[in-house]
Amino acid sequence: NTTGFNSGQLRALNWINSGTKKLFIDGKWVDAQSGKTFATENPATEQVLSEVSEAGETDIDKAVAAARQAFESAAWSGISPHQRARYLMQIADAIESHGDELASIESYDTGVPYTASRQRIPHIAETFRYYAGWVSKLYGTTNPSDDSRFIYMLREPMGVCALINAWNVPLGMAATKIAPALACGNTAVFKPAEQAPLSVLRLTELIHESGLPAGVLNVVPGLGPIAGAAMSAHTGIDKIAFTGSTVVGRHVLQSAANNMKKVSLELGGKSPNIIFPDADLDSAIAASVVSFCRNSGQICSSGTRLFVHNEIYDMVVEQVCSVAEQYKVGQPFEADTQLGPLISRRQMDRVLSYVQEGTREGARLRLGGHRVGDVGYFVTPTIFSHVKNEMKIAQEEIFGPVLSIIPFSNESEVILKSNDSIYGLAAAVWTRDASRAQRVSRALKAGRVWINTYGDADPGMSIGGYKQSGIGREYGAESIDAYTQTKSVLMKF
Ligand code: NAD
Repeated sequence: NTTGFNSGQLRALNWINSGTKKLFIDGKWVDAQSGKTFATENPATEQVLSEVSEAGETDIDKAVAAARQAFESAAWSGISPHQRARYLMQIADAIESHGDELASIESYDTGVPYTASRQRIPHIAETFRYYAGWVSKLYGTTNPSDDSRFIYMLREPMGVCALINAWNVPLGMAATKIAPALACGNTAVFKPAEQAPLSVLRLTELIHESGLPAGVLNVVPGLGPIAGAAMSAHTGIDKIAFTGSTVVGRHVLQSAANNMKKVSLELGGKSPNIIFPDADLDSAIAASVVSFCRNSGQICSSGTRLFVHNEIYDMVVEQVCSVAEQYKVGQPFEADTQLGPLISRRQMDRVLSYVQEGTREGARLRLGGHRVGDVGYFVTPTIFSHVKNEMKIAQEEIFGPVLSIIPFSNESEVILKSNDSIYGLAAAVWTRDASRAQRVSRALKAGRVWINTYGDADPGMSIGGYKQSGIGREYGAESIDAYTQTKSVLMKF
């Protein structure tokens, strides 16, 4: 019964139900060589949404060969930067005009509330426009020299890039890789995560319709240990950009060493969010709840360690719990839903096992900690107070809506504790003292720090990891560095 569905949702359902999804290689939709498919599931209903062709090693070989041929072709490497920028602009327009449909597909596949996936669409389109703007500004430099020589530096693409993504924000993370890779003149083989490949496959159709030459972007859904591993080890690939867990990132890095691929890794996090007593507490509390509940906690930069000064600790714990208690866990397409399901049964079981672990370690469970209903992988917002930073629930990435609230008594102590983690992806500090905000943000070992806010993003603002949260940066000018290499030229007169 589709009564009450919005038109984007209907288009999404029609597309999802339109048959097995294929691989996109050399500008054509093809079955996997093995004929194998895998199922992608709606985590809100536990029903299979669609069958998807499963790329194996031979398919990866074909995709890499197509990307190489396109990279060497005049149709791509010979075109003007303005034409390359126009492709990206057209993709941005297509994303905007298909926003309802793309967001709906993403919500069916990931369980993310529709209001949230729809809100992300303008940012995704803007990411393509932001990098379109860079295309005509990929300048080299000239060196001062005596008058017998001319020395200059060219900025050139890397070549064929392997792009591998996690499942939690499929379209957003696809944009952060595809847009700069193409802007810099590379070609790409992109593997979406097997848990939620659908929205990126629909985006690929739109990209194809933009007229991008065949082979420039190839999309190969498949399983990590097979298709992902084949890409990491492939000697025909020049650069790999990976988003996922630190454990898998380590494998990718080792495997990429075979042929000295250039590597960038966006990995896990356990981000500190620090509230000092002089902060605007209402804003801090509201944002702290959003920061661990957004995407049901399945965000790499979630504020999962909330450090609260002793003077305000009990009051903040109480208020954070009372705000989080009001959050609605529900069906992704209900307008007031704030937390949809987790991505899979495996992920739900993992999150619930950490709840048990927290209780076992002696933290106080103050809110939630359980599944909601018995169909779909819904879990309540869950809050532990009196957490010690060395506990597992404060050290390990849970990737679910679980918050650890940790007390502190002074600035140096909270800096030490915040940095006492293998991760260093993001952090936030809440205070009205501007000097303290500057001192603390400089001392935090994290790739992104927010002051008096949490989670705001801009395509020009880079993200990436200190320590085991990654190598390299995405977004901003730093992505341009990640997808280009420089060549110095010296000419003797
Ligand atoms: P994951 O590491 O299990 O999988 C990520 C991707 O790697 C998937 O496409 C998967 O198929 C592939 N993969 C799996 N095994 C592989 C192998 N042996 N070789 C090559 N590829 C392989 O991660 P996940 O569970 O999909 O995502 C959650 C993780 O991603 C969390 O740790 C989260 O913090 C991280 N993440 C980081 C960022 C960031 O920007 N830093 C953003 C989103 C997610």
